Amino acid sequence: MTTTVSAAITAEEADIQHRVDDLLAANPPGRTDRQAFLEAQFDAGLAWIAAPAGCGGLGLAPKLQRIVDTALAKAGAPVPDLARNIIGHGMAAPTIIAHGTPEQRARYLKPLFTSQEIWCQLFSEPGAGSDLAGLSTRAVRDGDEWIVNGQKVWTTLAHIARFGLLVARTDPDVPKHRGLTYFILDMQAEGVDVRPLRQLTGDAEFNEVYMNDVRVPDDLRLGGEGEGWRVSMTTLMNERVAIGGGRSKRGSGAIAQAVDVWKSTGCDDPVRRDHLMKLWVAAEVNRLTNLRAGQLARAGTPGPEGSVGKLAFAELNQAISELCVDLMGPEGQLYTDYESPRRESVGFFTGDPRYFFLRSRANSIEGGTSEVLRNILGERVLGLPGEPRTDKDLPWRDVPRS
Ligand SMILES: Cc1cc2nc3c(=O)[nH]c(=O)nc-3n(C[C@H](O)[C@H](O)[C@H](O)COP(=O)(O)OP(=O)(O)OC[C@H]3O[C@@H](n4cnc5c(N)ncnc54)[C@H](O)[C@@H]3O)c2cc1C
Repeated sequence: MTTTVSAAITAEEADIQHRVDDLLAANPPGRTDRQAFLEAQFDAGLAWIAAPAGCGGLGLAPKLQRIVDTALAKAGAPVPDLARNIIGHGMAAPTIIAHGTPEQRARYLKPLFTSQEIWCQLFSEPGAGSDLAGLSTRAVRDGDEWIVNGQKVWTTLAHIARFGLLVARTDPDVPKHRGLTYFILDMQAEGVDVRPLRQLTGDAEFNEVYMNDVRVPDDLRLGGEGEGWRVSMTTLMNERVAIGGGRSKRGSGAIAQAVDVWKSTGCDDPVRRDHLMKLWVAAEVNRLTNLRAGQLARAGTPGPEGSVGKLAFAELNQAISELCVDLMGPEGQLYTDYESPRRESVGFFTGDPRYFFLRSRANSIEGGTSEVLRNILGERVLGLPGEPRTDKDLPWRDVPRS
């Protein structure tokens, strides 16, 4: 039995290697335009190997993507711009693959993969963050269109986004989770107004987005009417993996920055060395946990391991960046770079540990706060009793709001 399984895997691996060789032979990286290469990669089913055929994949186990990535990196092939299109790759693609119509998949996935079209996520509102299902943005049906009115907030990279993942209330008379519908929003549509919000770091990576009588064609609805919560779950579970599920090399990322600071400051305090080593071990444990979760993952909506990784990522980044500025002494407090241009990518580390320290404060808020992730782990993994939810069965219209 074991032999048969491993033989099957080997055959799959050989087939993938073959496809990668064909892709590289037809599109030699040094001589092929970046855009053309990424389009060919998508067409060959090597963009996201777990996605179905025609959606940039081959319907295979996600862990096999490593064969593609390793071979393409060795050949010096262009890579998708994940920092610029983190929401496209990490959230929009899995949501469209899981819930989109064949037309939506055909229209949106390829330019998303090549980052020709950038995506943003229009979920949070001034009165609805952790309690996302309580959101107030309204979409009212008008023939073949929906008319959308409302305000979103903290919308990362909305200023460069071509499309947004929008959840709106379509039925206020049913309990909050049941009255939501999910749409793709054309960010260039009339009535969409994007305004910058400046962060602690000085950057304006995110925005407020106002929607005033924006007309959304019904064929941009993702999933059924009233099924917005179910579709949102796919986005949210994938978001946690996109933020916290990194599978970087041993000793890279945040902990590499701490080791650099340690070396550059010439610190030889044994207590701080011990602190650094403990964080290094914790970073390695988190990296290996993410690797294992990635290998166990099946295509589709990730399980609670995404929440574990995201929670650990936030705590580690904050602890590591605190050690960095601590090691730097008074210089660690001198952050003056408040004139930064408007960011067009999401980067947690920029090389300046002081930026990393300030930016990491947001890690325990974005993509679900650490408190909310602990609730999820308590309830769904440990089986602890759920929080009292008094508004669960009330029509949304009757839920008290501030
Ligand atoms: C850098 C950054 C980028 C972001 N990008 C996006 C984006 O692109 N798109 C988008 O839609 N949103 C985005 N967000 C918003 C983010 O998802 C929300 O900020 C987050 O979900 C928390 O919501 P809130 O800010 O309304 O806080 P609230 O939900 O009001 O929470 C306030 C405090 O109460 C705690 N709390 C709330 N409910 C509970 C509970 N049940 N149990 C225990 N504690 C609780 C929270 O943990 C928090 O400490 C971003 C946020 C940041 C910081």
